[in-house]
Amino acid sequence: MRELHVKEITDAVARLCVEANRELPADLEQKIQNAAETEHSALGRAVLCDLCENMQAARRLGLPVCQDTGMAVVFAEVGQDVHLVGGSFEDAIHEGVRLGYTEGLLRCSVAADPIRRGNTGDNTPAIVHTRLVPGDRVTLTVAPKGFGSENMSRLRMMTPAATEEDIISFVAETVREAGGNPCPPVVLGVGIGGDFEQCALLAKQALCRSVSKRNADPYYAALEQKMLEAVNQLGVGPQGFGGDTTALAVNIEWAPTHIAGLPVSVNVGCHVTRHKIVTI
Ligand code: SF4
Repeated sequence: MRELHVKEITDAVARLCVEANRELPADLEQKIQNAAETEHSALGRAVLCDLCENMQAARRLGLPVCQDTGMAVVFAEVGQDVHLVGGSFEDAIHEGVRLGYTEGLLRCSVAADPIRRGNTGDNTPAIVHTRLVPGDRVTLTVAPKGFGSENMSRLRMMTPAATEEDIISFVAETVREAGGNPCPPVVLGVGIGGDFEQCALLAKQALCRSVSKRNADPYYAALEQKMLEAVNQLGVGPQGFGGDTTALAVNIEWAPTHIAGLPVSVNVGCHVTRHKIVTI
């Protein structure tokens, strides 16, 4: 049994919060740069060039890529041969978020109460998803999520009679209704199957997959491509100003479901779809 002090969890989460906000995944940045060259709309190209300049400035100046530094979503895969010592695991994650956001001068965006509001002042609590896995390592993924895009997300409990076209239409309709609100070009995490809450979680996990990695199942890889094409035919374009670059990638995660249902969720990610991963 390997011992791991929870302070290492806190330190890692604090560091990842800052890094994730300052630097986008390299393949996402590359896709935005490529789109700046291929977009047909002149205004769309200008917007994409501005986004590229913004990313470079954030890196050069050590500043967040966006003013909305998001709610901190943390996925933790904890090896079953790890013995965590020195305190509570979840408290260690929240402390990491607190340190990362306050000392890293990131905007604190968490309302203490969803109806009565009030700011918690340190971006805690984080949203934590923990899974027990084989081995003696802990893998942490920190994915700050902005709400301009989160607010545009949808979940529909379809029936088993729904066709592939129905699912593609639901995804495209979600993006069409969102318009410029999620700061396109977007990244779409699509969850298919499971039950109500697993379906939403699948979509969030899909957003944490690299945008250049297609689903391992050729059927779902092809469906990702069909959805991407359908969305890019909408004409929403960069920041909603029109163009053919509405989405940069569609990532699907799926799971078995009940014979009577076909849940589908779309977690909309903006062009600042961030995450950083570490294994300790
Ligand atoms: S949706 Fe994304 S790019 Fe737009 S303000 Fe929110 S975090 Fe920033």
